[in-house]
Amino acid sequence: MMDTLIEATVDRLLDRINAISAGGPGFTRPSYSALESEAHQVVAEECEALGLAVTRDAALNLFARLPGKDRQATPLYIGSHLDTVPMGGAYDGTAGVVGAMALVTAFAKSGEAPPADIVVAVTRAEESVWFPVSYIGSRAALGRLTAPEMQAQRADSGRTLADHMRELGGDPDAVLHGPGLPPARFVELHIEQGPVLHNAGEAFGIVHGVRGGLRYREARIEGVWAHSGGAPREARSDAVFALADLVVAMDRAWERLLAEGHDLAVTFGRVDAASPEHAFAKVPGRVDFCIDIRSDDDAVLDKADGIFRREIDSVEKRRGVRVITGVQSRSKPTRLSAGLGRDIAAAAGQIGLSPRRMLSGGGHDAAAFAQAGWESVMVFLRNWNGSHNPDEAMDHADLAHAVSVLQRTWSAR
Ligand SMILES: [Zn+2]
Repeated sequence: MMDTLIEATVDRLLDRINAISAGGPGFTRPSYSALESEAHQVVAEECEALGLAVTRDAALNLFARLPGKDRQATPLYIGSHLDTVPMGGAYDGTAGVVGAMALVTAFAKSGEAPPADIVVAVTRAEESVWFPVSYIGSRAALGRLTAPEMQAQRADSGRTLADHMRELGGDPDAVLHGPGLPPARFVELHIEQGPVLHNAGEAFGIVHGVRGGLRYREARIEGVWAHSGGAPREARSDAVFALADLVVAMDRAWERLLAEGHDLAVTFGRVDAASPEHAFAKVPGRVDFCIDIRSDDDAVLDKADGIFRREIDSVEKRRGVRVITGVQSRSKPTRLSAGLGRDIAAAAGQIGLSPRRMLSGGGHDAAAFAQAGWESVMVFLRNWNGSHNPDEAMDHADLAHAVSVLQRTWSAR
């Protein structure tokens, strides 16, 4: 009976929210766009129909509160985001908001109040493709967004975050001066965006940490342009060969650090050997690239960075090139709440499940809450066809299943 209600809520909300999108393929709701506001409005209507009090903060994050038995007890916030990447999928973010709605619907209709308040939290602007800032909505809610970040420009419009926020009715100054929410508990349901659960045939898993990253987004190798037939080997300063050396060296280091039991992912990209200037008859004098190093351990990020630096020294000597790494940007690995993870695992155990504990490779709002001192945890849902694309897929029944485990978790507390 309750499970039917959860399933019906999941199906209805996914349909209603995903009906709101710019032209396809896939789903497009830019951060701080009218489309994102419209999707938030669907949640507001559904919450008001359940009799919940709906509020929006100065950054236009939406909160809807279901009162618990003990109004003084630490509330549980549950939710995710409704913005998408351009031509994204139906579930990234949306599944978590819909799951939160299904949880409060189940409690509201059961006639039995949860032990503490449950607050549906729909954050703004989680996808950093629009503004080059991480976790905008959640960090705004937590009083952690900075004045320079408020001036970040949206990729499509070129207008600032403050501008877009104000246009939709938000108050950027109040965001910057607000105290932020006091620490409580946060749970985020989210598709895994990776193959682990799907390959293992498991509906959901509990996330114990979010990887941090160390990036050089605008790195460059400068060599010397030369004639590809005329320049003798020993006289060349070939930027592409130098990059190849670096890539192979970092691949070997990656393998070695994994074998030592560390968590690490190394990705090179945006490789461009000066396309407009380049031709097949030239020894490349320049190559631009980026590198993204991720780990659950800050010390391993430092170690990998040290190796990268040493390899740069050796490649500069060997190849006669100059490597300019540019500005390093960094995000901290974040440990999520072991206590909340245990509570959810215990509830799952009561119905014969033992969800795996796993790491999140991508960043999520849950990390922002954890960094602000909240007890914060994520539940990953099995999905397939990758993510951030129109074919992103998951089984609605998996979401309903995870929600019923959360209901069991919070009934037992
Ligand atoms: Zn997401």
